[in-house]
Amino acid sequence: MTVHAYAPGRVNLIGDHTDYAGGLAVPMAIDLGTSVVGEPGGERIVLHSEQLDGLVELPLRPEDPAAVEPTWGRYVAGVAAELQPDVGFTGVVRSTVPVGSGLSSSAALELATALALGFRGPARELAALCQRAEQRASGVPCGIMDQLTSACGVADHALVIDFTTLAVERVPVPAGAEVVVVHSGEARALAGSAYADRRAQVEAAAALIGSLHDADPGDLERVDDPLVRRRARHVLTENARVRAFAEAFSSGDLIGAGRLMAQSHASLRDDFEVSTPTLDALVERLCATTGVHGARLTGAGFGGCVVALTDPGTLDEGWTVRASAGATRLNPASPPAGTRRRGA
Ligand code: ADP
Ligand code: MG
Repeated sequence: MTVHAYAPGRVNLIGDHTDYAGGLAVPMAIDLGTSVVGEPGGERIVLHSEQLDGLVELPLRPEDPAAVEPTWGRYVAGVAAELQPDVGFTGVVRSTVPVGSGLSSSAALELATALALGFRGPARELAALCQRAEQRASGVPCGIMDQLTSACGVADHALVIDFTTLAVERVPVPAGAEVVVVHSGEARALAGSAYADRRAQVEAAAALIGSLHDADPGDLERVDDPLVRRRARHVLTENARVRAFAEAFSSGDLIGAGRLMAQSHASLRDDFEVSTPTLDALVERLCATTGVHGARLTGAGFGGCVVALTDPGTLDEGWTVRASAGATRLNPASPPAGTRRRGA
């Protein structure tokens, strides 16, 4: 029996570096995704990729995922180590997500792999398993946004995620809104160590003033270290922007939503310092284009992609992406994951 599992990539419209701080974000699963197709059986996991070189060949319970070669096999090994499947699998990875660009090809690979290897259970458990797999594979203490979005995506909707409760609500993408992702041309650099530094700084702030999900701007005065204070200020103001963005999006206010995206970029640039001159120049150029309501870096930063909210047909560059359903087994079929409508 041929198994076909599929998981989408994602783009984050607003709310970056908030997931591991228990904050908020509005990502959406997109119509670029990754399939794992093959036959279950045997006692080894054997995969090749149509995008990257090297044959991945693993035992059912890999002991050290971070040491696997080729390196893309680390994500597969991380999933296998977490899932501990009973039977092997031989097949192929096939993806339309640009690899290493901030659209979460890694989470798409993890979720499709986990479903192909036999994961059965709720979307949140799938996401949590794949987050642990990514941390084991990459050594980066990543949050759960990418995996949760790929697991819980809904066609034509963005998701409002609260990372303290892991509540996922859906909000329709307004009619007449287009979401365009443009690559900066800059490969992401330093993402691992700088990411861990940012996470440690956010945790240092939370140790002083409590959960940044509930903190007030006035609480920031209790953070003496100016660098840590700026990092925390990004998270606090970003959470406020996410709430406002969800309202603007729900009421079809594209101008308001776009303005919040531009403000988010400025905060990631100035307070969180995860932008680059190339990303800044691209955001500036896009924001100055008639029909673009706003643009910002998306994902962890340090290169990669920018996301823009535009009127239809405004940009003839990048990927125009549609909000799409979440990860699923296409064969044998699995029931789609459910989310609540915002405010329901
Ligand atoms: P992003 O998730 O933003 O695309 P990451 O650096 O987090 O970037 O993940 C990219 C890595 O995920 C690749 O270097 C590779 O190891 C793995 N990967 C993603 N898609 C594929 C694929 N189609 N085939 C093989 N490996 C993949
Ligand atoms: Mg990734």
